[in-house]
Amino acid sequence: MDRVRDIIIIGAGPAGLSAAVTASGYGLDVLVLDEQPSPGGQLYRNIERADQDTLKILGPDYSKGLALVEKFRKSAAEYIGNAIVWRIDPGSNVCFSTDSQSMEISGKNIIIAIGAKERPVPFSSWTLPGVMGAGAVDANFKSSGTIPDGPVVLAGSGPLLLSVVGHMVSLGVEISAVLDTTPRGNILSALPLLPGALRRTDYLLKGVGMLLNLKRSGINYFKNITDYKANGKDWLESVSFKTKNGSQHIDAELLLVHEGIVPRCDFTQQIGLKHLWDPVQRYWYPETNVFGGTGMNGIYVAGDGAFVHGGIPATFKGSLTALDIAGRLNALSSAEKTDDVVKTVKKLSSELAPRPFVDALYKPRMDLYNINDETLVCRCEEVTAGSIRQAILEGCQEPNEIKTITRCGMGHCQGRMCGIALAEIIAENLELDPGDLRPLNIRPPVRNISLSELSRVTLLEAATP
Ligand SMILES: Cc1cc2nc3c(=O)[nH]c(=O)nc-3n(C[C@H](O)[C@H](O)[C@H](O)COP(=O)(O)OP(=O)(O)OC[C@H]3O[C@@H](n4cnc5c(N)ncnc54)[C@H](O)[C@@H]3O)c2cc1C
Repeated sequence: MDRVRDIIIIGAGPAGLSAAVTASGYGLDVLVLDEQPSPGGQLYRNIERADQDTLKILGPDYSKGLALVEKFRKSAAEYIGNAIVWRIDPGSNVCFSTDSQSMEISGKNIIIAIGAKERPVPFSSWTLPGVMGAGAVDANFKSSGTIPDGPVVLAGSGPLLLSVVGHMVSLGVEISAVLDTTPRGNILSALPLLPGALRRTDYLLKGVGMLLNLKRSGINYFKNITDYKANGKDWLESVSFKTKNGSQHIDAELLLVHEGIVPRCDFTQQIGLKHLWDPVQRYWYPETNVFGGTGMNGIYVAGDGAFVHGGIPATFKGSLTALDIAGRLNALSSAEKTDDVVKTVKKLSSELAPRPFVDALYKPRMDLYNINDETLVCRCEEVTAGSIRQAILEGCQEPNEIKTITRCGMGHCQGRMCGIALAEIIAENLELDPGDLRPLNIRPPVRNISLSELSRVTLLEAATP
């Protein structure tokens, strides 16, 4: 563990695996760390153990991952699973915890490939047991074969919501209703982008197929709904929402919510990289170049953590990052590099063709964060929207100021659940663009570790890449 690696990759999803395969193919010394027990990331979670039934239900989008994981297993890259990274030192050291023991290692380069997460959106009683992210259903099914008991209501917007519905129908889960919050006007603003998307009709047809399957399934499908709420005392009992015909109410034991996907910026915020705001999908992302380079020496971001483009693009983004590093370390000639980069960029741009259309079609609704004062925004520190608005009234203007005054974002998750909501509430109250605000500061340890474990770590000198 004490040698300085050419590359330390955090995350064994499509981006991290592809970067590892490419870089180790050029003879670089690569170590991949991931908190999951096996490689695959979010999309190809537990793919090596998936049985035929699982592969059939999750379809080719999932089974495709096996070839990538097999290539990775055959490569010379070293892999440590169950390894939770909790700190990156901009001098290129990485701290991680495995088996309740933490250690620090050095790399000449670090690739942050930690992917994306479902956008957390506070709404009335979202903290009730029985309310969870829709993506968790797929994650649980992939990792342990467990499926939810019905009756289930799904609410939100985006292709992943439709994909989860499709999987649940195949699994025979009782679905009471799907509440689609996608604004009616989105289709009009997305239409000018359709010609670009037609370069990849396969993706468009897949989306249409998911919608048709939902309609054919006979499930209650409500479009253009607003104001969904969870109701119940100690556990979810029902879901209420509004349609153009008025308020409605459905009994449910499980509410699965999905409001799109946003990059995980845990480490990019921790090391102080510059973040930009995407006005369409409304999230922060770290500023990077085409190779995932960040302007900070030896620090790269690959895959959905750099910008949400999806699983296949993540593999190409991972390869591009590896090619850049291999070129800088003279593991391949500049002619070889140019050749490989040109080929990879071409494939990436073909994959990205439908993205602007899909992003505009599923642009989050404007009232996403129009939440009442009683609603908890920061679940760790129990800070309500009303307390945040009060702090703004008293003169606070920045997320980090409000964090200091209210403790919003100061809990265990360090703002992973509330950071975007906090910025949106400030922006709305001060009539600003959230992009004018600075995201919350995140301090190491970025993930929870015990104080006794922390006390046993000996930090290395900052490496000089
Ligand atoms: C909930 C959810 C469900 C999704 N479902 C689908 C789907 O059904 N179909 C589809 O096409 N796309 C889906 N996506 C999108 C898809 O997962 C991504 O496009 C793709 O996986 C991105 O690849 P990546 O390599 O960038 O990141 P990921 O595949 O997310 O891989 C990141 C890896 O980093 C690891 N990691 C994160 N933080 C740490 C840390 N601190 N220490 C160590 N390891 C860490 C994670 O465990 C993970 O294995 C989903 C995304 C989410 C968030």
